[in-house]
Amino acid sequence: MKVIHLSAECYPVAKVGGLGDVVGALPKYLCQAGVDASVVMPFYDRKFTQENSFKVVHQAPLLLGNRPISYDILKESTNKLGFELYLIRIPGLLDRVEVYGHSDETEQFVAFQIAFLDWLISSGIKPDILHCHDHHTGLVPFLVSHSARYKELAMIPTICTIHNGQYQGSFEWDKLVYLPEVDLTKGGLLDWGGRINPLASSVKCCWKFTTVSQSYLKELSLYSNGLEYLFAAERDKGVGIINGIDTDVWNPQTDTMIVKQYAARTVGKGKETNKAALCAEFGLNADKPLVSFIGRLVGEKGADLLYDIIVRSLDKHKGELNFMVLGSGEPEIERALASIRDNYSGSYNVMIGYNEALSHRIYAASDFLIMPSRVEPCGLNQLYSMRYGTLPVVRSTGGLKDTVIDFESEGGYGVSFDDAGVESACTAVDRSVALFANTAKINTLRKKIMALDFSWDQSANQYIDLYTSLIS
Ligand code: ADP
Repeated sequence: MKVIHLSAECYPVAKVGGLGDVVGALPKYLCQAGVDASVVMPFYDRKFTQENSFKVVHQAPLLLGNRPISYDILKESTNKLGFELYLIRIPGLLDRVEVYGHSDETEQFVAFQIAFLDWLISSGIKPDILHCHDHHTGLVPFLVSHSARYKELAMIPTICTIHNGQYQGSFEWDKLVYLPEVDLTKGGLLDWGGRINPLASSVKCCWKFTTVSQSYLKELSLYSNGLEYLFAAERDKGVGIINGIDTDVWNPQTDTMIVKQYAARTVGKGKETNKAALCAEFGLNADKPLVSFIGRLVGEKGADLLYDIIVRSLDKHKGELNFMVLGSGEPEIERALASIRDNYSGSYNVMIGYNEALSHRIYAASDFLIMPSRVEPCGLNQLYSMRYGTLPVVRSTGGLKDTVIDFESEGGYGVSFDDAGVESACTAVDRSVALFANTAKINTLRKKIMALDFSWDQSANQYIDLYTSLIS
């Protein structure tokens, strides 16, 4: 079974968030299970592309509207990621440092998708499944079904995975000229609210769509940035499959980015050493509980609540609690979080920016990881934190609801709260501080969460079942 994953991100080539983690791991686990899975993504000008060697396997021109462009398909030479990796290079459009945030994002991702489909047609490659991820690849199901140029691909089942329904990539109809000739009697399949909406189109046109947790599948019909009605109508096409984690990358026993490796058996000592190092680095008090936040500083993640959560909790538990934040995002949130660094020096610090190695050190060093998310399609942070024996403190939504059970409920192991607000998050922090004082309980819970299995094996099998059902 040959499956091509099409994505804007793939760890370690380019990662901005969970999409990168998933596309860097799922194909590897699919290959281990006997599937011929490969990844096709844009060629960015980043460390991975600078330091690795690639072979040009295809070159061709194409027209983006009236604009003539040329593209290369490069294949990573060593297969060291555990799957075949192909990069589409389009000078001036895709070969950039940053994945997102460009004013010509529409042109960027439309050109990427057209180059991909043109390449399949001209090279005669016919996968059994086309697996698209998020809106950046959302036009593919429509194009293979309703553009004569790709009619040879029309019978290939398409699957779209929604990692985040908030971002939809919509653009004005006057940019239709960028697409190859399409059957305009089917134009409604591109449209949502009078604009071309790639995410909506992918849901309408794909054979099946998946969401990265079961709760998120239900929640999309209630709030999905304007697509609620669509998700409710297409509900039967949706399947919720929780993400796994790449246990080769996220393993405290082998992780070379952390100060001291440890297993469940040695978590007490291991955490103590990692915490002492992080606290020394950021001027925190290693004897007191450490609650951390890692992530994009945006409303979706409840990052705008952090300022109040931190100030209130540190005022209440004076000298008895630490907070550490790593993230970047909305400037106002960044500024607010940086502004209190001096007032709470000794028990609070923040690092604005993206830093993969530091994130590993924080997962290993912290006692708790807080996620006051308003929306969380799956959430990987809580899964990584549990793998590192760090108790998740989460708002019960989406994937957080599916993966974290409050320690006071039967079989529970984390701290969870229902309302996306400062009040309930602070109460959860209070409960965490009280829990920390109970050393025996903390040790039992740490060992328990480290033993939970969130590996890809089970989820990869669910994808294989889905592929198989579409092929047969
Ligand atoms: P999302 O994709 O919505 O941002 P996820 O929880 O699915 O959220 O995935 C977030 C991923 O990005 C995790 O691997 C997390 O560790 C990582 N991450 C987020 N922000 C940062 C940062 N500032 N530095 C390092 N890693 C980060």
